[in-house]
Amino acid sequence: MFTKHVSKDLSAYCNGELSPHDASEVAEHLIGCPRCRVVFEEIKLGVKLAESVPEMKAPDSLWLDLEARLDAQVGTDESSARRVASERSIRPLARIWQPRVLAIAATLILASGLGVIWFYVQEARPSWEVARLNGSPRIGSAIMNDRSRLAIGQWLETDNVSRAQIQVGSIGQVEIDPNSRVKLVQTGPTEHRLELARGRMSAHIWAPPRLFFVDTPSAVAADLGCAYTLEVDDEGGSLLRVTSGWVALQLKDRESMVPAGAACETRRGIGPGTPYFEDASDSFRQALSKLDFEPHDTEWSKIPALNLVLMQARPRDTLTLWHLLARLEGTDRSLVYERLAALSPPPPKVTRDGVLQLDDEMLTAWKAALESTWSNDSGLRKGWIKIWTGALGKVKGLEGKK
Ligand SMILES: [Zn+2]
Repeated sequence: MFTKHVSKDLSAYCNGELSPHDASEVAEHLIGCPRCRVVFEEIKLGVKLAESVPEMKAPDSLWLDLEARLDAQVGTDESSARRVASERSIRPLARIWQPRVLAIAATLILASGLGVIWFYVQEARPSWEVARLNGSPRIGSAIMNDRSRLAIGQWLETDNVSRAQIQVGSIGQVEIDPNSRVKLVQTGPTEHRLELARGRMSAHIWAPPRLFFVDTPSAVAADLGCAYTLEVDDEGGSLLRVTSGWVALQLKDRESMVPAGAACETRRGIGPGTPYFEDASDSFRQALSKLDFEPHDTEWSKIPALNLVLMQARPRDTLTLWHLLARLEGTDRSLVYERLAALSPPPPKVTRDGVLQLDDEMLTAWKAALESTWSNDSGLRKGWIKIWTGALGKVKGLEGKK
């Protein structure tokens, strides 16, 4: 894994200019490094801006004038043929000056400069294909056929027996379970976004990190190349369970990174709780839930809850403890530090004072050192990175042939 940040490589990375080895190193770094992901997000934002360059219409008078001149050139005498030849040499330039072409050119220049993954441009469609798996799912107010399309802004709804499968372009599939309600919010080269208002969905996504998002009432799930289920209850709380890869859950500046085998709950108004491994004991999980979601007027109950979490933490539960550092304050934070350091001593240059002051670089370095104990599917993760760096390579090859 890269120990240094990869921001300077991101443009080359998005353009498929790195070797497969370097590209997978960058992808792996991106998963674990919030700082480089910020730069990655900026690159994507740049692409979006480029996409929004307005298209201007040429004035009708220009077209009329051009038409008149073309008609005038239909003459057959030698001098007009010569004039046609000379006008033809000018016309390509005139064409370049058409505002529409200018706008497209500006988009192209900006986008390639900023490093868009052009492969996904071809994915830009206003709707997704939906297949009926069971019962009678509805799109809008109409019962869907065996195959149908879900357009931006439309809701797909299942009753207590119906299920459906959504094809997310060529980057993945989402299964919608009974009693669920999902909306296609956005689909484009830099972002695919669903809203899950209630119910449960399972996603299998093989795209670069942070292309596929799911909005829920209490957090946003950002895909980092993975498979997961996400369930939203009637109160707007949700439960995320990751089966391979990583998912980030976010609300404002609160973020939980959830690896395979782990789960994370969210609550309306609070956002994501602390991730935990699903094989942790019930008492560990209940205590954690108290720490995450108990209202302030029952603060007293948090002391035994924290003690229990610290006492029961196993080496892989450093996932939970690492996240708790930033969520607790004062003595509680130093208690977490001591337990975390006892389970897995911080790497060189990561100091107690730095961690207690939530130094971003130190927290990231410690997390990188801990990750090997968190992921029992590092092979799988490497697998998906290979798949899509391979896909990028192929696209590069195809472009070369054009
Ligand atoms: Zn970095």
